[in-house]
Amino acid sequence: MTTLLTIRPPRGDTYRIAYSGSEFVEPDTSIDNEIDTSEWWALPGLADAHAHLTMSSSDDIHGISEEAMGMNLPVNAWAHVESGVLLILDKGANTDLSLSILDHDAGLRPSVEAAGGIIHPDGGYPRGFGHEVEPDDLVEFVRTRADTRGGWVKIVADWPRKGLGPLNNYPLETLTEAVAVAHAAGARVAAHTMADGASDAVAAGVDSIEHGPYLTKSDIRALADRGGSWVPTVANMLKFATLLGAESTGGRMFLQGLENMRENLPLAEEVGLTVLAGTDMAVPHGDVAIEAMRLRDYGLSHRAAAEATSTNAYAYVGRPNSIAPGNVADVVFFEENPFENVATLAHPALIIHLGKVILQES
Ligand SMILES: [Zn+2]
Repeated sequence: MTTLLTIRPPRGDTYRIAYSGSEFVEPDTSIDNEIDTSEWWALPGLADAHAHLTMSSSDDIHGISEEAMGMNLPVNAWAHVESGVLLILDKGANTDLSLSILDHDAGLRPSVEAAGGIIHPDGGYPRGFGHEVEPDDLVEFVRTRADTRGGWVKIVADWPRKGLGPLNNYPLETLTEAVAVAHAAGARVAAHTMADGASDAVAAGVDSIEHGPYLTKSDIRALADRGGSWVPTVANMLKFATLLGAESTGGRMFLQGLENMRENLPLAEEVGLTVLAGTDMAVPHGDVAIEAMRLRDYGLSHRAAAEATSTNAYAYVGRPNSIAPGNVADVVFFEENPFENVATLAHPALIIHLGKVILQES
């Protein structure tokens, strides 16, 4: 069965395309069916660049069993698909079980890249969560893990210690060598940083800065120059600022970090740094449109916030980010142009995933 669609991208000319099976094809093949999409705008899918498919709440960071993770995976993956989120970068889990999502039916989950267990030294993250790896062992650990099929390695760059405040988890030289080893194995490295560890993470060559409220202006430029990415997780920052309260040391750090983002997000857009939307348990699975709106609130243009939540994520991981013959038949339609109003991303009018209609507004 071949179905014809009209594609109006947020920018550029409107065109016709068809899909057959799970792939887009030229529109001149024999057509069985047409869905009238001529009034809508199309994106190749929404993308969440910092999700944790194994977890259902941020409390799960204090301990979650393999059994619970295994049950969460298909449920959370499907919640994304139902919202039009067709690409997920899973930025880490308690164990490498998160990688098993890649064995699930592709029609019932988004396209996924995943980091497996989160790497940190003892005391450098909630105890018992992820892989505890001391600095002397980091390079060797990454060497043995980086070529797992998930495509990512997630390292915690800094973490607060009682009475001492945030400290870097690994020396710069160690981090630099670990990143080189990961790259040699074909994996990308994501670094969690909520404090000054951001500068070392950038200097070490990591691909993606997660959170990064204390990135400096020169970090932003350096990351842009070498084609890195930044996933600010603004909704997550706001959640923790509220949870901790403005009177606490931690709360003050989050609030100052959010103020830094108000300056750094426009700078990132200006210098062409790839900013990506990530939810990180701040909102229910699938609600990445909320992060798109927060990125807009904190200084990105509507267009940059929409690209951060869709096309730029696809491009960053080297996947097709247009709706064209030969690509998988993934497309999400919206009633307004997302480059003019990013809030429209929260209300898809039609979602097609691998050639199957997932949601269609009547
Ligand atoms: Zn996270």
